Amino acid sequence: MAKKKLDHLIAEAKKAQQERARSYREQALKILPWICGRCAREFVRERLRELTVHHKDGNHDNNPPDGSNWELLCIYCHENEHARVEDAKFEKPGKSGSDPVSRHRAFEGLDALLKKKRK
Ligand SMILES: [Zn+2]
Ligand SMILES: [Zn+2]
Repeated sequence: MAKKKLDHLIAEAKKAQQERARSYREQALKILPWICGRCAREFVRERLRELTVHHKDGNHDNNPPDGSNWELLCIYCHENEHARVEDAKFEKPGKSGSDPVSRHRAFEGLDALLKKKRK
């Protein structure tokens, strides 16, 4: 039946779309050079897990196939990129402290950085 075929095609298209969304990282890595957009560090396949996909508009569901919403950032620059935004939002004036230092220290441990999820 034509209707059934159409349903099937729609289901396939939806599935494909979902898979595309889920694998945007792979897609981004496929079409973008493996270079951090901030520090210009180049990556080889063995170090690729340190390269992450940043969504320029902050919307992880916005994944145009041409990659126009993606930016590849190393985890350090990606962390910084979001920290910058959060600092702007949450920084309290007059708060003296060792923030830049503690942030710097986080760079020493890759695992700690990966585990430490920002709220
Ligand atoms: Zn970087
Ligand atoms: Zn990001």
